[in-house]
Amino acid sequence: MTTPTRRGAAFGALLAFLSLFLGCSSSRASAETSRTDFVLGTLCTVRIVEGPKGAKAEKLLDGAFARLRAIEERLSANKEGTELARINEAAGRAALPASDELRLVLGKALEYARLSGGAFDPSIGPLVKLWGIGSDAARLPARSEIEAARRLIDWRAVELDEAAKTVRLARPGMRLDLGAIAKGYAADELKRLLAAGGVKAAIVDLGGNVYALGAKRGGGNWRIGVQVPDPQAGRGEYLGIVEGLDMTVVTSGVYERFLEAGGKRYHHILDPATGYPVENGLVSVTIATGSSIDADALSTTLFTMGRERGMALAAKLPGLSVVMVDAAGKVYLSPGASKVFTLTSAAYTLAD
Ligand code: FAD
Ligand code: MG
Repeated sequence: MTTPTRRGAAFGALLAFLSLFLGCSSSRASAETSRTDFVLGTLCTVRIVEGPKGAKAEKLLDGAFARLRAIEERLSANKEGTELARINEAAGRAALPASDELRLVLGKALEYARLSGGAFDPSIGPLVKLWGIGSDAARLPARSEIEAARRLIDWRAVELDEAAKTVRLARPGMRLDLGAIAKGYAADELKRLLAAGGVKAAIVDLGGNVYALGAKRGGGNWRIGVQVPDPQAGRGEYLGIVEGLDMTVVTSGVYERFLEAGGKRYHHILDPATGYPVENGLVSVTIATGSSIDADALSTTLFTMGRERGMALAAKLPGLSVVMVDAAGKVYLSPGASKVFTLTSAAYTLAD
């Protein structure tokens, strides 16, 4: 049984980041201020391209990474003592006071749970913990364990009380996990913080959850590479490029966090209906839009819903570009995506 190690994943993410932006010369890079650190269980990079320089830029980066750590302290399901962990521990018992931040992210997650009919579900925690995919504890659980965990998953039993500012999980053993949405929230927060600090152009990359603020130096579109959704492919191999200004690009896929057991590969996006990784023929879903919390939630939501239901939901939501890839190497674009996405890999074909 093997899982990609954290260090391996982190190094890979760094390589992906370094090769993300095409046509960036070293003299230009020297005018930028950039920092990379391990937060939110992944490598995060913030790169100020245009705006304050020197000590002022470093101070902004101090603030950005402090903000990321504060978000992790509130919203992590992986650490003890966070606000989310305390709510999980109180499952079946008391409603606990919840911060504006936690209520905002959980509220969004519940909205996508409703929109997807529960395919996306922030109460997926017991299954995420049981499988442990992406952690050192990853293993193929017994069917009975999966059934027991599955019975605890029910977004309707998450009691978010906006008037009382509390959260309660109705049944003992329930457990929230915001891993599918909180990086997007964090990217939006950093974008706001940088813009308020006078930054005109920047890249925020939280383990592949990218926000490109403003425009490229000189005013052109950002060009953001979408990774080939194949664990065998080298990092920095692109499926294609998304172009635009002030946009976020977020991908959910089967190729990064997975477990190999008994000759089979199990990825980390789980189906609340079966308790096993989602199997619907998709290997990746990329979203490009303006809001990163929505893009993060939607990349996972549309993945769990599958191509037809997912594209139908996307068509009802404004300002969204969706790129889906299936296991046969076919690439499906939403109407918006055909304007911003260019397929560059010869190994994949656009569906008609
Ligand atoms: P996404 O598609 O965006 O999300 C997939 C993740 O969502 C899964 O890993 C699972 O956590 C959850 N999920 C699975 N199925 C569903 C479903 N049907 N509905 C809703 N959610 C689902 N990783 C570590 O290894 N160690 C850490 O300490 C750690 N701390 C973290 C703290 C925070 C605050 C956050 C946001 C993430 C942290 N992570 C950590 C990473 C996290 O565990 C996820 O693996 C990661 O967020 C997955 O992001 P993604 O973009 O790859 O996939
Ligand atoms: Mg997501």
